[in-house]
Amino acid sequence: MDSFIEEVLFTHEDIVKRCDELGKQISKDYGDEPIVLIGLLRGSVPFMVELMMHIKNDVQIDFMDVCSYHGTTSSGSVTILKDIKLDIKNRHVIIAEDIVDTGLTLKNVMDLLCERGAASIEIACLLNKPAARKYKCLEPKYVAFTVDPKFVVGFGLDYNQSYRNLDYVGVLKRSIYENK
Ligand code: IMP
Repeated sequence: MDSFIEEVLFTHEDIVKRCDELGKQISKDYGDEPIVLIGLLRGSVPFMVELMMHIKNDVQIDFMDVCSYHGTTSSGSVTILKDIKLDIKNRHVIIAEDIVDTGLTLKNVMDLLCERGAASIEIACLLNKPAARKYKCLEPKYVAFTVDPKFVVGFGLDYNQSYRNLDYVGVLKRSIYENK
């Protein structure tokens, strides 16, 4: 095991297996309908790439980069750093996210995308941390794994932009981020 990891939660094999199951479920749920898959940069990339290859529908992809600020109010706010190019009006959208934590990012992204007239919007995430939820957001329909509120890295998830390239998800040792 890598020296900075306390515990491996999900191996690469586990992740591919769950993406296959989710891809089959999505293909069944959407029938013959085309799907627009929107990845939130940067953490969603490995999950989105793996997931889309298990979906049988016509899938178009795009990316959005947003920055969320946890203010003192219950709403928080979001700044769009990069917007999507595809027109999502009357189209079925699935947002791909690495982890749903407080829910702030998704709450804000959903508000933005709803205004653009999508036929439907659902969320697919690699990890869901329901115990950490602070903001009321649409709950993810397609969840690969549910985790406890611990700080995890790998398969897109970072600490200070590192560890995204691990092919597994693990709990980062506290000594890496405490007293820094
Ligand atoms: P939310 O807006 O609080 O739901 O946060 C979502 C974002 O916070 C994710 O897209 C991640 O970038 C980051 N995040 C939340 N929990 C973790 C974690 O355990 N490890 C790495 N990043 C995390």
